[in-house]
Amino acid sequence: MIPRLKPWLGKKELRAAFSRSKGDDVRKFEKTFAREVGQKHAVAFPYGRTGLIFLLNALNLRGKEIICPAYTCVVVPHAITYSGNRPVFVDSQPSDFNMDLDRVPDAVNENTGAIIATSIFGYPVDLDKLNVIRKTYPHIHIIQDCAHSFSAEWKGTPVQKHGVAAVYGLNISKLITSIFGGMITTDDEALADTLRYQRSKCLKTPGPGKTIRRLLYLLAIYPTFSNWVYGFINRLERSGLLDLFVKYYDEGKIDMPSDYLEQMTNLEARVGLVQLKKYRQIIDRRRALASYYNQTLFGIKGLKLPPLVEGATYSHYVPMVEDRNRFLDFFLKQGVQLGWLIEYCIPHMSSYGQKQGGAYCIAAKMSESAINIPLFSGIGNASIERIVDLFKQGKAL
Ligand SMILES: *Cc1c(COP(=O)(O)O)cnc(C)c1O
Repeated sequence: MIPRLKPWLGKKELRAAFSRSKGDDVRKFEKTFAREVGQKHAVAFPYGRTGLIFLLNALNLRGKEIICPAYTCVVVPHAITYSGNRPVFVDSQPSDFNMDLDRVPDAVNENTGAIIATSIFGYPVDLDKLNVIRKTYPHIHIIQDCAHSFSAEWKGTPVQKHGVAAVYGLNISKLITSIFGGMITTDDEALADTLRYQRSKCLKTPGPGKTIRRLLYLLAIYPTFSNWVYGFINRLERSGLLDLFVKYYDEGKIDMPSDYLEQMTNLEARVGLVQLKKYRQIIDRRRALASYYNQTLFGIKGLKLPPLVEGATYSHYVPMVEDRNRFLDFFLKQGVQLGWLIEYCIPHMSSYGQKQGGAYCIAAKMSESAINIPLFSGIGNASIERIVDLFKQGKAL
C-alpha cells in the first residue's frame, strides 16, 4: 500500500525523542529554525494556528477584517476567529492555487487589519504583486503563511521575509515535522519579544503527560506507515488510518484542539531539530519528483497537471480531475492512496457560509477536483513507476 503521505522519520528522530532533555530544546529549535529560514527570530508554539492567534494579538488586531485565501487550510480562518477578528475570503487564481492578489484591493476597506499571503502547496506567492499591495496599503500587515512552503522562493527571493512575520505548521503532514508544533518567524525584535512575553503569560508549560502523549504518538507513526499495516487498515475504510493522525477539522465547527494553549514539548523540539537538518534534501527530492511526474504524466486525457514553478516546494502534487471519487476508488483498489486536499472552499463551508455571499468559483472548482499524488521524500522508484503506470493505463477515467 502506498499512502498519500508519509513523514520522513528515521532512527535519528527516535534517538532524539528518547534522549534526555537539556531543558532548552525548544529554544535551540527556534534558533536553528530562524537560521534555516533566514530570519532573526523564531518563536515556537504548540500549533501553527496557536502561533497565528498570538501573532494577530501581538499586532494589536482586534475586531478587524483579516484577508485570507478562500482556498487554504481551514485552521487559518479558525485562528482568525479565535483571535477576535473576522476572516474575509478572496478567490484563487487559476494558474497556481494561490489567492488572486488582483482581487485583494476589492476586499480591502478601512477595517482591514492584515492580509495573509499563503504559498499554497508550496507555490511561492507573487512577491511583485504583493509588494505593490504593501506600498498601496502600508498600514495593513502582511503575514506570510509558509505552512506549505517553509522557504519557497519567488524569482530567487524567499517569501517568508516579505511581511511582518511568517507562520509555519509542523505536524506530520508538513514538509518537516516536530510531531506537532508551529513556528512564527520575524525580523522584528519588538514583535518577537511581545510574542515571547504573551506566550509565557498565556501558554501552559507542558507537563510530563503531554510529553508522554507525544512520544506515544511518534512511536505509533513508525509501524502505522509500514506497508502492510497501512494497507490492511486502509482497506477497512477509505479515509484510512492516516486520518486518525492528521484529521484536523470538523465540518461545521470553528474550534481548536484541546491542547492548543499548552506549549510545545522539548521532545517535539528535539525531533524538529533532526528534521531541520533534512530540510534541503526533502525539498530537492520533492522538486525532482514533481518534475518527473509532470514529464511522465503529460498528455494524459482528463488529468490537468499542476504547474512547475521555480522556487516552489511542492508540499503536495495536485492535478485536477473531473470525477475525483472514481480516481480515489480505482487507485485504492490498486494499492495506492491518493489524497484529496484541499477538498473544501472555506466560505462555502457551513461554519463560514452564512457570513458572506460573493463568488468563489475558482476555489470551489479546485476543492472539487484536486487530487494529491504521493510525493513524499521516502517514496521509492518502484512506487513512482507503479503510480505513473496506473495513470497511463487510463482505467481510472
Ligand atoms: C497546516 C497549516 C497551518 C498550520 O496548521 P497547524 O495544524 O495549526 O499547525 C497553517 N496554514 C496552512 C495553509 C496549513 O496547511
